[in-house]
Amino acid sequence: MQTVQLHDTLSRQLKPLQPERPDHYRMYVCGPTVYGPAHIGNFITFVRFDVLYRLLKAAGYNPLYVRNITDVDDKTIKGALESGKSLEEFTSHWTDKFQTDCRRLNLLTPDVEPRATEHIAEQLEMIQKLMDKGFAYVGGDGSVYYKVSHFKGYGKLSHFDPEALLSQSTNSAGSANLADEYERDAVADFALWKAHKDSDGPVAWDSPWGRGRPGWHLECSAMSIRYLGETFDLHGGGEDLCFPHHENEIAQSEAATGKPFARHWMHGVHLLVEGKKMSKSLGNFFTLDDLIEKGFEPMEIRLGMLGGHYRQQFNFTLGGLNAARAALGKLGRGYARLLEKAGESVEDSKAIPQSLDTPLDDFGAFTAAWDAIRKDLNTPAALGALHTGLKAALAANSGDAQRDLQAFRKLLAVLGLEVQPETDKAPASEVPAEIQQLAERRWQAKKDRDFATADSLRNELQQAGWTVVDQKDGFELKANT
Ligand SMILES: [Zn+2]
Repeated sequence: MQTVQLHDTLSRQLKPLQPERPDHYRMYVCGPTVYGPAHIGNFITFVRFDVLYRLLKAAGYNPLYVRNITDVDDKTIKGALESGKSLEEFTSHWTDKFQTDCRRLNLLTPDVEPRATEHIAEQLEMIQKLMDKGFAYVGGDGSVYYKVSHFKGYGKLSHFDPEALLSQSTNSAGSANLADEYERDAVADFALWKAHKDSDGPVAWDSPWGRGRPGWHLECSAMSIRYLGETFDLHGGGEDLCFPHHENEIAQSEAATGKPFARHWMHGVHLLVEGKKMSKSLGNFFTLDDLIEKGFEPMEIRLGMLGGHYRQQFNFTLGGLNAARAALGKLGRGYARLLEKAGESVEDSKAIPQSLDTPLDDFGAFTAAWDAIRKDLNTPAALGALHTGLKAALAANSGDAQRDLQAFRKLLAVLGLEVQPETDKAPASEVPAEIQQLAERRWQAKKDRDFATADSLRNELQQAGWTVVDQKDGFELKANT
């Protein structure tokens, strides 16, 4: 096993990942709520965890990956009622759409993709345990609530002061339920089981506390424990889930089992799109279909998403996708030259599937890329090192070419990039149109004294493998290899 390190939200430290059990590294990621097409802000989270899953396979951790499908909540119920379909029919349609988009983005299918509605029994069982231990009570509206003040560690993941959480009059956990606030003992208390309301239509299950449906937080506790055990290795999701969702998961799970829940927590920072928070009114709200309609390939979109580190705010732009297209072309041309150097034919190599599980001890010219990805999943650094590694491999002794070729393929597999070797290479002097455009935008930004934009465009060019050299009355572009 080769060690992978990740920042842990709980301890706020960079920590080596260590499986609790020798057989598997057990990870759970909060999946989509299936009531419409997922947008790129959702997908960047799933792409990041896909890279982690791939990396853990490649590093010898033997991961067991569970990612749930939320198929019952306010939004899915509303969508089903409005479309005149049953909840199951409605959510199955959007689950299929999600899975199709995942395949297009080259995401590996998790080992288990459990649905909330198929695990009602496990959720009821957990409520019963919480009732028995005094952590749950029936509110004035017949719903069952979790008694937050009873759980000592509340706030430990999000690093919020539990006193402040308990005393405030509104919070994001409570705001959704302000109408029935008086039904609960405290605002921070959240619903484990929601009593049936007219607005739920036919969606309801029987429970010892009357007909109703599970609260959203409960499903992840119940399903992660069902498939991974009471204590498991890693839990992740987008940063917006840290509080209250993950905090509540910890409270429910640890109160019910008396054991620590997840040992490591990973959260990805949300992206900006064209410099702003994604919103329908700003016109920067994109689904995968929207970007494909604009002429981008899913692989370009995937590479574009990997251009930012998961713990830093990342600005996703259409210009960045143009740069990703150029970078893929460059990797493809380098790949063809490396194949040639290693004495392999380009045609044969197209038939070789990328293998994640083949162990590799020596990454040769790509050691820096392998080290970068293993140190807090630094995808932008790994991509940069992939380009410099190619340059070094092509310049090195041909005796090393076979080893470097294996390492290059392995890194592509870890990043989930399908790169076709391309022999019909453009002459070195030829600058692709999209690179030229980026460079021109950068020059204009510089002339307008908008240095932040100019710098960010320079970085995009660098990532695509081009260095821009300023001259007195213009600029020159130089290919990096
Ligand atoms: Zn969840």
